[in-house]
Amino acid sequence: MSESISTALAHAGDGQAEKALRQYRSVPEVQPVYMTSVFAFDDVKSVDDIYEGAADGYVYARMKHPNSDAAASALARADGAEAGLVFSSGMAAIILSIISAVGAGDHIVSSPVLYGGVRDYLENELKRFGVEVTFTDFSDPASVENAIRPNTKLVYTETISNPLLAVPDIPAIAEIAHRHGAAFFVDNTFASPIVAQPIRLGADLALYSATKYLGGHSDLVGGAATGSKEWIGRIQKKLTLYGATLGAAESWLLARSLRTLDLRVTRQSQNALKIAEFLENHPAVERVYYPGLASNRDHALASRLFRNGLYGGMLSADIRGGVEAATYVVDHLGFIKYVPSLAGTATSVSYPAKTSHRAYSKAELDKAGISLGQLRFSAGIEDADDILAQLDDALRGL
Ligand code: PLP
Repeated sequence: MSESISTALAHAGDGQAEKALRQYRSVPEVQPVYMTSVFAFDDVKSVDDIYEGAADGYVYARMKHPNSDAAASALARADGAEAGLVFSSGMAAIILSIISAVGAGDHIVSSPVLYGGVRDYLENELKRFGVEVTFTDFSDPASVENAIRPNTKLVYTETISNPLLAVPDIPAIAEIAHRHGAAFFVDNTFASPIVAQPIRLGADLALYSATKYLGGHSDLVGGAATGSKEWIGRIQKKLTLYGATLGAAESWLLARSLRTLDLRVTRQSQNALKIAEFLENHPAVERVYYPGLASNRDHALASRLFRNGLYGGMLSADIRGGVEAATYVVDHLGFIKYVPSLAGTATSVSYPAKTSHRAYSKAELDKAGISLGQLRFSAGIEDADDILAQLDDALRGL
C-alpha cells in the first residue's frame, strides 16, 4: 500500500520501532523512558487476555507502565516485600493505602506525631467519610493496645518521627495490631529500606514519600508502597481509579536514584552521626535528638530494629537562645541551605516551628516537645569535616 506524507508522519516514532528492536540482540543498558499514554495491539484477543489475567501486558498508562513497574519492583525487592507500587506523591501513596484499609464506621489508631499533611488528613478529612481516628502515644505499645476498639481496622505510624526522631517498637505494635485483627502501616520515609525494613519487622505495608531518600536528589515528587501481593493488588485498584500513578519520566528518575540509595543513605547516616556527636558536645547547643546517640532514649530499640548499624540521615538540635539564636544560625550556614524538605545529596537545615509546624500554637509546640530554637538537619553526602566546619562557623557567631 502506498503511503501519503500525512500517514507516514502520523506514525513517526510509534511502537513499530519497539517491535523491531525486539529482534535485535542488544538491549539498552538502561530502560528507556516509555513516554506513551497507551499501548497498541494487533488483535482483540490480546486485550481480552490481559484483562482476564491470562497474559502479561500494559494497556493504559494510568494503570501502570514499564517505568512505574521497574521502580516499584526494585523498591519491593529492597524492602523484602512481595510487591510494590509507585504514586504521583507520598500523600497519594499514603491516602490511597489508608482508604484501601478502612471505610465508613471503621476506626484507626495513629501516632499523633506525623507528617503534617497526613495528620491533617486523618484528623479532619477522614471524619467526612465516617472514619474515626484515635491519636495515642506510640512510644508505649500498651497505649496503642488500650486505644484499639472492636472496629479498629488500621494502626498507623512513622518509623522515625519528625522532628524529634522518636522510634516506635514496630514488632511489638505489629503483634498488637494483628492480634486485634487490624492492619499495620508504617511510613518509612525517614529511614528508607537501607535503615529499616518495616515489612520484615511485621508491618503490612511500608509507605514512602519517594520525594525524599528514594528520589534523593531533590528533583522529583513521588510516593511508594510495598507489601504483600494481596495488599498491593487492593491498592492498585484504588490507584487506577483515582489516577495517581507516577509518570514515566519521574518513574525513570526514581529507578535511576534507587541504584545509589544504599551508598547515599549509608553516607548520609554516617555524616548524621558525626553531626549529632559534634552538636552534642557544642556549648551553643542545648540538646540533640538522634537515635544513633548512646544518650538517646530510643538508642537500644533503634539498634535492635535498624540495619547495618545505621540510624538515618535526619537529626534535630535545640540551639541555646531560642528564636534569635536559631534564626542567626540558619542565616549563617553558608552551603547548608534552609530547605523545608529533606534527604537530598546536599546537607540542609529546616526550622520546624517556622515551616512544618508553623500552624502550632506555643502551647501545642511545647506539648509536642518542639522548641522555638529547634533546628532539623538533613545530612548530605559531602565531606563530614566540611559540614562540621560550616556548623561550627555559624554556632561560633552566637
Ligand atoms: N511522609 C513524610 C514522613 C514526609 O516527610 C512527607 C513530606 O514531607 C510525606 C509523607 C508526604 O510526601 P509528599 O510530599 O511526597 O507527598
